[in-house]
Amino acid sequence: MNHMKKWKKALALTGGMAVLTAVLAGCQMKKYEEIPLPETTVKSSYEAEGNAVEEETEKKGSSVERETFANPANQSHEVESSPVKAEITKETAPAMETRDETVYVNATDLNVRVSPSSTASSVGKLNRGAKLRRTGYSQSWSRVIYQDRECYVASQYLTDLAPASQETAAPLTSSSQGGEIGLNGDWKYAGYSKINSGKAVLYKAEGNNRKGKVVCVNAGHGTTGGSSVKTQCHPDGTPKVTGGSTAAGATTAAAISSGMTFADGTQEAKVTLALAKVLKDKLLARGFDVLMIRESDDVQLDNIARTVLANNMADCHIAIHYDSTSKDKGAFYMSVPNVASYRAMEPVASHWQQHHALGDNLIAGLKGVGVKIFSDGKMEMDLTQTSYSTVPSVDIEVGDKASDHSAAALDKLGNGLADGVELFFAN
Ligand SMILES: [Zn+2]
Repeated sequence: MNHMKKWKKALALTGGMAVLTAVLAGCQMKKYEEIPLPETTVKSSYEAEGNAVEEETEKKGSSVERETFANPANQSHEVESSPVKAEITKETAPAMETRDETVYVNATDLNVRVSPSSTASSVGKLNRGAKLRRTGYSQSWSRVIYQDRECYVASQYLTDLAPASQETAAPLTSSSQGGEIGLNGDWKYAGYSKINSGKAVLYKAEGNNRKGKVVCVNAGHGTTGGSSVKTQCHPDGTPKVTGGSTAAGATTAAAISSGMTFADGTQEAKVTLALAKVLKDKLLARGFDVLMIRESDDVQLDNIARTVLANNMADCHIAIHYDSTSKDKGAFYMSVPNVASYRAMEPVASHWQQHHALGDNLIAGLKGVGVKIFSDGKMEMDLTQTSYSTVPSVDIEVGDKASDHSAAALDKLGNGLADGVELFFAN
């Protein structure tokens, strides 16, 4: 009941009645798109890029528009009176539904164009909150009145929410524009979590390359007080089958440990967070949605809470860690121990091969960008994360105490991990 209360409170705070309904209806990860996160609470990876973005996303429209875009001559040589554009206008505009409504801009530097094409002349730019009268609508373009004339803007950047309502629907934190997701006490295994008042944040990719997949990026450690609370190692209460930070044979372990300290004095949790942020941006740019477990030094979510959030809100779960050796031995993932009883225990039994597939692909991605790999890229470990995971899930150790953790090194790791995610979902 305690979890349930916390969860309901979190939902109330985030203003998510529809979320509540969806979740109560047993709506799980595949359905997350039905959860109407307010537009303003979803951070676009592209917003800052202005025009380039619009060029990308506007390609989403009709096949007529796509064909037009595929014509290279049109890209560079189009002029106001060109026959190509006349054709676009003729073919696209009549497909619009007639509207007479007020809409608001939900983007920055949104181009206002003379015809429904991203190659058409722009007669001005609008910013978030700008009010417009919409007279025509299609999925890709809206006809609006701008300075007393009919113009066109990309439909996806318009909303019927007035700026005031957008403000009301905004999430609690000022540092993040993401949609906050708390632990739902009804989710399977949620009751095993002891620390779960924190919130993960869901980011949605925008653009025409959306993958429709949510990647949970879990920056290892970073839960104040987590090491003094114990949680059950396995959902069935059996003891751990391998050693590690908790010895084999134990039935409980630290709810979440504080992590190691690099040879240069930097805390592991600082570096895993920095890498998680790098990876988030790269995944969003590649069209993946991202569930960020942690975005600051402390999130009150233990390993079980993080895992259950990933189980229910993501299509895979990547926990980022550095190992506690001092050899710069290279990257590897924690594989599922080849112990019959462990591999027979649910949810491990049904999912361990998926965990390995994810781990193998991440290692392949890292290897592909030249990251040093330890041994064959894996090490058997009985982890709380794996013991409760129902989506493909790995703890990846991208280095150790002696590894370079400069911005350049993190960028390279981010590329390798993002490549690995692409490989995983492509296979
Ligand atoms: Zn770690």
